Amino acid sequence: MKVGFMGGTFDPIHYGHLLAAESAREACGLDEVWFVPAGHPPLKENGPEADGESRLEMVYRAIDFQPHFRAMDLELEREGTSYTIDTIKALHELYPGRTFSIIIGTDRVNDLPQWHEIEALAGMVSFIGVTRAGETFRPEQLPKYITDKLTLVDMPLLDISSTIIKERIAAGRSIRFLLPEKVHSFIRRNGLYEPE
Ligand code: ATP
Ligand code: MG
Repeated sequence: MKVGFMGGTFDPIHYGHLLAAESAREACGLDEVWFVPAGHPPLKENGPEADGESRLEMVYRAIDFQPHFRAMDLELEREGTSYTIDTIKALHELYPGRTFSIIIGTDRVNDLPQWHEIEALAGMVSFIGVTRAGETFRPEQLPKYITDKLTLVDMPLLDISSTIIKERIAAGRSIRFLLPEKVHSFIRRNGLYEPE
């Protein structure tokens, strides 16, 4: 079984994440995409604003009734920094017989060489880079052990980010139709991301 691994802080999840996952699934013939909210992401300057439980709940709401999408809480359960290689090792043990492809936006593809134990990780998975609005991706700057494992997938560009959504909430603006309605209502009901 071919599984797409969609990591992220999902603070909050939005249509950019969902369309990236679906585009990768279709283009690469993935059986499923697993959404894995990060506990403590290593390459982000600030930690997530919403707690892990709320971020996971928003992922569940976003993928509800999608037969090919699943959410996994294993990074949230783990203490310390979330390194993808540790998660992939754990998934291989828990779910033998799966092959994993890590789905990332092109804004993050050029960071791959900085990932923890990247050479070992590249030996265990493949990478799917999905085009992200406003990003120029430079494959010539990547080492061969990554480009050998990298497939690029186009998606209709969606200029949506969690940052933009939080900025709009802080400014009292609408976030409707940037993310699924069930996520929108959860954010509103719980007052998430609103200024103190
Ligand atoms: P932030 O603004 O906090 O960085 P984000 O919207 O970029 O949030 P992340 O959790 O950082 O979301 O992203 C998880 C993954 O989803 C990354 O690989 C990222 O490139 C990808 N991604 C996020 N938004 C989009 C989008 N609009 N189009 C394509 N890929 C996206
Ligand atoms: Mg990001």
